[in-house]
Amino acid sequence: MYELPGRRNNGTEFQVEIGLNPFHFDDDSVTLACIIDTAERYELERNRRDLAHLTRVSTVGQLTASLAHELNQPLTAILSNVQAAQRFLTADPIDLDEVREILNDIVQADYRASEVIRRIRAVVKKGDLEVVSLDLAGIIRDVVLLVRGDAIVRGTRVALDIEDDLPSVRGDKVQLQQVMLNLLLNAFDAMSGVPSVDRVVSVTLMRESTNTVCIAIRDRGHGLTADKLDKIFKPFFTSKPQGLGLGLSISRTIIDMHHGRLWAENNIDRGATFFVTLPVGDATEQDESR
Ligand code: ADP
Repeated sequence: MYELPGRRNNGTEFQVEIGLNPFHFDDDSVTLACIIDTAERYELERNRRDLAHLTRVSTVGQLTASLAHELNQPLTAILSNVQAAQRFLTADPIDLDEVREILNDIVQADYRASEVIRRIRAVVKKGDLEVVSLDLAGIIRDVVLLVRGDAIVRGTRVALDIEDDLPSVRGDKVQLQQVMLNLLLNAFDAMSGVPSVDRVVSVTLMRESTNTVCIAIRDRGHGLTADKLDKIFKPFFTSKPQGLGLGLSISRTIIDMHHGRLWAENNIDRGATFFVTLPVGDATEQDESR
């Protein structure tokens, strides 16, 4: 199969896929050429990618509380350390050990601020699907750190329970981060009306079978009425005044592309749990080579 640019009568270029099949017909050898116009397929794929990117940017936009909080801390630490250093420098003799220690603290605070920015940039990054071997536990921990400020502002706690020695999965890091981000922020939203002692989201990562791992995001919010369990995954379904209604539909597309499954269940007591299952590394590899 070859991919080449084609040209229409009106001169515009479009992408074609050409398949050549040689075969024998009586005594002649003939080649059957199949030329497929793939312009629409590319367009669809590009639109899907742009939409996913936009949703990601808008989701990160909701993290303003996190950003302000996470960046304010190191910046305040840097400022007070610099002021302390300025004071020490006026002393005679100057206590160089003290100044050295202060400079180290400044470097550490600077690292913390860069780390926050790195995490945000990783999520909003635009690019093609990059399928690599991933440590799902690391991705989950990263996203939990990203929403930490929001969790604090909303008086919510995130409890993490990650099984040891889990196998890696194959997938796109940014996209899986996006799914986790959507599910966590939805859980926070669902609990905005419950007393603060009950505002806990439990995130569990465990092995489900020999070939799959499972992430469960369990909240104690308002839960879902039976008719909503499926509807919420449809594009533009939202119950929030400012909602886009795209987070879950995009998350499901992403998990489908990873050969996994995403669904929701109501908890027996209260709230809902969102489950994501993903094949472990080797299983996806076999699937893709088919
Ligand atoms: P948005 O958050 O913009 O509304 P989503 O696609 O992420 O879009 O969610 C669609 C709808 O699903 C939400 O408006 C809400 O009604 C419902 N929903 C999502 N997560 C939860 C949850 N954890 N508990 C209860 N309802 C939820």
